[in-house]
Amino acid sequence: MQIKEESKDKKLLLKMRKTLNKLSEQIECNTCDLCEEGAVYVLNNEVSLMKNLNIPLVNIDGSYFIEKKGRYCPAYDEMKKSGKRCLIYSERPICCRLFPLDIYVKAEKLVWIIYNDCPIIKHRVNDGCLDSIIEIAKEFERLMTKELANEFKREYDAWKKTDDPFLDVDNYNFIRDIKY
Ligand code: SF4
Repeated sequence: MQIKEESKDKKLLLKMRKTLNKLSEQIECNTCDLCEEGAVYVLNNEVSLMKNLNIPLVNIDGSYFIEKKGRYCPAYDEMKKSGKRCLIYSERPICCRLFPLDIYVKAEKLVWIIYNDCPIIKHRVNDGCLDSIIEIAKEFERLMTKELANEFKREYDAWKKTDDPFLDVDNYNFIRDIKY
């Protein structure tokens, strides 16, 4: 039974990643380290992977976050000594794959927000980039189970207890309610 659940979780994670690969293709990011200062949540089906990669985690009220090293995520190679900024890029959590989108709670409902400080969003706002990002968000919604939605809600409550600068309301815009 447990193995069945684990493989269900794994399949869902792979589907989420596949959907968000389309977002990564839109957001060819190599320009700033803005997002690296934020709190990085780790979904339940990603915890063992992060542990296997020796990424330190903190547990806040049952939700997991990457434990920062100073200002940044410990997987962030500020000097790009390895040639890449993220040392675990192919295995990075869903939280990182979602950027500049994120999932918040408003009036007890899950909503999509977009971080408006992301330079790519700022520079491409008029070229249809935002429309295609919203389409990807809608595709992601189709994978949202009740359990996953509840997990995002719990994670959001825990996230408010962090010192994440992205908590500042000036940093984001609401896009749409999440339907599931
Ligand atoms: S896991 Fe990678 S992409 Fe995510 S915050 Fe850390 S360095 Fe950045």
